[in-house]
Amino acid sequence: MELAVETSATAAASAPAETLRRDQSVAKNLFFGEIVEENLFPYPVMRERDREMLGAMLDAIDDFLAPQHSALKHYDRNAEQPPEFIQALRDMGLFGLIIPEEFGGLGLSNAAYARVLAQTSSHDSSVSLTIGAHSSIGMKGLLLFGSDAQKARYLPDLASGKTIAAFCLTEAGAGSDAASVRTKAVCNDDGSWTLNGEKIWITNGGIADFYTVFARTDTPEGKMTAFIVEARQPGVSHGPHEDKMGIRASSTTTVAFSDVRVPADQVLGDVGKGFKVAMTILNNGRTGLGGGAVGGMKTLIKLACAQAKERKQFGKPIADFGLVREKIAQIAVDCFAAESAVWMVAHYIDSGCTDYSLEAAISKVFASEAVQRASYEALQIAGGNGFMREYPYEQITRDTRILSIFEGTNEILRLYIALSGLKDVGATLSELKSAVGNIFNDPIKGFGVLSTYMRRKASETTGYGTDKILRELHPGLRKAAAVYEKYTVELSKAADALLRQYGKTIADQQHAQKRIADIAIDLFVGLCVLSRADRLVRDNHPDKDSAVTIADIFTRQARRRLRRNVRGMTINEDKSIESLAQSILDRGTVSWDVV
Ligand SMILES: Cc1cc2nc3c(=O)[nH]c(=O)nc-3n(C[C@H](O)[C@H](O)[C@H](O)COP(=O)(O)OP(=O)(O)OC[C@H]3O[C@@H](n4cnc5c(N)ncnc54)[C@H](O)[C@@H]3O)c2cc1C
Repeated sequence: MELAVETSATAAASAPAETLRRDQSVAKNLFFGEIVEENLFPYPVMRERDREMLGAMLDAIDDFLAPQHSALKHYDRNAEQPPEFIQALRDMGLFGLIIPEEFGGLGLSNAAYARVLAQTSSHDSSVSLTIGAHSSIGMKGLLLFGSDAQKARYLPDLASGKTIAAFCLTEAGAGSDAASVRTKAVCNDDGSWTLNGEKIWITNGGIADFYTVFARTDTPEGKMTAFIVEARQPGVSHGPHEDKMGIRASSTTTVAFSDVRVPADQVLGDVGKGFKVAMTILNNGRTGLGGGAVGGMKTLIKLACAQAKERKQFGKPIADFGLVREKIAQIAVDCFAAESAVWMVAHYIDSGCTDYSLEAAISKVFASEAVQRASYEALQIAGGNGFMREYPYEQITRDTRILSIFEGTNEILRLYIALSGLKDVGATLSELKSAVGNIFNDPIKGFGVLSTYMRRKASETTGYGTDKILRELHPGLRKAAAVYEKYTVELSKAADALLRQYGKTIADQQHAQKRIADIAIDLFVGLCVLSRADRLVRDNHPDKDSAVTIADIFTRQARRRLRRNVRGMTINEDKSIESLAQSILDRGTVSWDVV
């Protein structure tokens, strides 16, 4: 099943960009019980220019990488990407994907870029990582925050791949808590900076010439600043290639800075605003990771289908057995869902939406977990062969494991999804509180706030404002739409109740936050699935029936998870889990045995 690129000629004309509410976040509005339909329907289609460029490029990637599968396997075993291989990636233009044409790049949109990474990942994750760390995070800061002079100086060589980029944030003491970096930059009298510290696990660390480095500057404007540092600057060095579980061929090293003098014109963005620079880069780059996950899943679907049809047991192909068929169908559902969410987010970024960080986090969490489930199940379908290194499953399983760890662990991203959504609801509640207090002093303002809140409360109880979806969706999808409407209302009720119960201490309630995040994930991904399936039906896609079936399956499964998570907000075993964890942590082990 190949549903990645819609082909309808009519579709291009009806992309939702004109009606898009660029200042509105779909995910954040879900917390208020509202579905921002304009930002979901109709499902966007890829721009004509991107589509044209992708056609030739995807074929070229296949032509180049497919014959290299045994070499790629060798690179994985030996944990290396030889210089001539990196040169071939340069020659294909894979380092200039998102750099504007005026600087020698291809100027691809986020959507097209993610599609390229899907294609490279369908062959090898380390290749995607080398290209992705360069574009998604290594030099993304320069594109987003660089001055004209910085862009003119660095982008041409970054586009050709003569210069490779890396993103240097993590340190031994600063992983998830990225704000606590210890690498220090001290401002000198001439305006230059002296940089000292060490970064760890830097992708492309050993092959990069251009580092985006985050250091503590402790200025009145803020604690952290981003710098451009060149590998050739005196005092810059990197450690050996790390011996990793997966993505072994891609370069991961420490990068150290010892009294590195960084000129003032190598500050990236504003002094003191480095944390914002780092988070903006990571948010903007998540579609690359998501695209890679989808590419991996498509390969797994092909492998699993071939294996299931070829392998015979009990006198039949194992593809005839329900438990094998179930796995293949589930991988396809997850793949379609991840793809629908990732490219919706890419569309938001490409269309100039200003608030998409929650949706980006949701797509990363969902896609990274979906591909790991898929690799586990595809390996299981291959049985003992799946466990053998001769077959590709074990490498894909190792390679995909990193996806829920880097670019923000999935735990941290779930907390972020929940707390960001709750924060806005909390702000409305406190606004409401003060408006009610001031209502006689400033009745207009007071009633304004009240009426907004009451409208939201009304939508919680009646589903008001969301029934348009029901009217316009393809009839085969309306039942599914009702599920998302119902649980969007449930999310807003749960958010309201949590904030009233815990107030600011909600930040300490991680079990509740996880449930809230999982509800938001199912709602946003489910709505993307619905929108995509509706588009494929309207475009009369040859496999539209599968899309409707997938939307139905995803929604039934999501409904069970949603019901469980909503119920878990009030009925749960959180206290027991907390006390059990504490007693095990105190002992450092479990105390029982059978002897
Ligand atoms: C192969 C590889 C490549 C990488 N590439 C780069 C790169 O190019 N540039 C870069 O800067 N970094 C890179 N990293 C670093 C990566 O981003 C970090 O590993 C990641 O941010 C997690 O940090 P940590 O490993 O220190 O885990 P920790 O922060 O120590 O977390 C350990 C566990 O605790 C959980 N946890 C932590 N805090 C909380 C909390 N408040 N609540 C609940 N759970 C919590 C985490 O979710 C995780 O499960 C790379 C890492 C690897 C392994």
